[in-house]
Amino acid sequence: MAPGDLDPKYTTKFLGPEPKQLLIGGKWVDSASGRTFETVNPSTGTVIARLAEADARDADLAVAAARAAFTGPWARFKPKDRQRVLLQLADLVEANLAELYYLDSVDMGAPISRAAGYQFSVDVLRFAAGAAMRIQGETVNNSVAVADLFSFTLKEPVGVVASIIPWNGPLVSSIAKIAPVLATGCTMVLKPAEEACISPLRLGELMAQLDLPDGVVNILTGFGEAGAALTEHPDVDKVAFTGSTATGQQIVRAASGNLKRLTLELGGKSPDVVFADADLASAVPGAAMGVFRNTGQVCCAGTRVYVERPVYDEFVERLSRFSEALRVGDSLDPETEIGPIVSARQLDQVLNYLDVGRSEGARPTSGGARITEGGLANGYFVAPTVFADVQDDMRIAREEIFGPVASILPFDDVEDVVVRANDTQFGLGAGVWTRDLGTAHRMARALRSGVVWVNTYGNFDPAMPFGGAKMSGWGSEYSDHGLDEYLYLKAVWMGVGN
Ligand code: NAD
Repeated sequence: MAPGDLDPKYTTKFLGPEPKQLLIGGKWVDSASGRTFETVNPSTGTVIARLAEADARDADLAVAAARAAFTGPWARFKPKDRQRVLLQLADLVEANLAELYYLDSVDMGAPISRAAGYQFSVDVLRFAAGAAMRIQGETVNNSVAVADLFSFTLKEPVGVVASIIPWNGPLVSSIAKIAPVLATGCTMVLKPAEEACISPLRLGELMAQLDLPDGVVNILTGFGEAGAALTEHPDVDKVAFTGSTATGQQIVRAASGNLKRLTLELGGKSPDVVFADADLASAVPGAAMGVFRNTGQVCCAGTRVYVERPVYDEFVERLSRFSEALRVGDSLDPETEIGPIVSARQLDQVLNYLDVGRSEGARPTSGGARITEGGLANGYFVAPTVFADVQDDMRIAREEIFGPVASILPFDDVEDVVVRANDTQFGLGAGVWTRDLGTAHRMARALRSGVVWVNTYGNFDPAMPFGGAKMSGWGSEYSDHGLDEYLYLKAVWMGVGN
């Protein structure tokens, strides 16, 4: 089988030619409008599936199904019942991981060589399974001057959640939204991004095997229109959104009608700071993959690489050679380290930024163009690109590119780099490379971001919170903090004196 061919072993009904459907109330149904849209393999430019296009009418039906499930049988599930469902789902995902990763590879271009990293999805489900049984309130010693008032708190599920995700990690993003919903007893409507719906739909199919009431998890494929209908819907209690900052701002406005709770995981322009005393043998590949992993389509990509001046030239040289050596190719080729950009539209955006970088005076030291040779001509491939001599005010240093483009900027000392690293509307990730413990702690405190990685970059764990400061978002995902975003606190007063 040549790279790019669909492996018949994994061909599910979602990769066949017939249009795929929406999952509403436990049933697969066509969209109310009957409209469909195509999805393309970005390695080859070929259409791999046709999907139902949801609109506001489908959103109404899905929200009604989620509401009925929330007040119906699902409400009677005890913590250990929800735990059982989560453990079943973890086992199912684990057993089908190769297929799910394959689907993401052909749908959005994630290199199949990275499949091992997908264990994280399973870990998130098992963490949530444990957490489901330790959602606890507290007893509170009150000082009210009335005899015998007992006071305590309960953590209650917020209700129906609209979970809207982007295309850059469809399986992981789906699981990150499904796990807390199941752990806390909420119900949901999942709206994957139009570019990458296949693995979320396959997850929906797998979930039919769980002891889960119909309507707890509903899935709507479609465009922003479907997402907007959910965020405006008066019977949705919370929106859990991952996507761009611009869409996040629209959601804040749309959610105001019934004051929905919001968690927002938004964009970034994360700094990665390399001090002269760093171990460059780990800082060079660490910083490079901090930008280029997933073809740069990572919200917390460390795209502004600040390098202390004494090692600046050496670092630029080594980073450029490392980047040139990365193997770019079809996502299904096991040798591929860097896959395609997700879509023709996103490719245009990245290529435009390459022009902008050059016209602003940045110096490309590796990559810098689309790859059109050989078998890659029909796909959306861009060579990993390093721009040296970038200035803080250049657009490539300020705007989220969401492609394989690193900007390298020299700096002179800690004060200088803290001010410059923090001079951005975003605050998602940040990296620091140093052997000096004092510098490491000082930087970890001074950087205004939701995550700081020191002598490493881009690690995730189900027990560690992930979220953004400033315009990178509200709230956290993963960890017990992430679960709290799906619960509200109820204070109970009880007269017990009679
Ligand atoms: P996007 O904002 O264009 O789309 C995200 C989702 O929102 C899609 O499902 C889309 O259909 C939907 N949508 C679009 N308009 C909507 C509206 N008005 N109301 C409701 N939903 C709407 O983002 P994208 O291009 O799919 O993804 C890339 C962006 O996501 C980048 O900015 C990236 O940084 C961000 N991202 C953030 C994180 C994080 O955890 N912080 C993770 C991954 C991606």
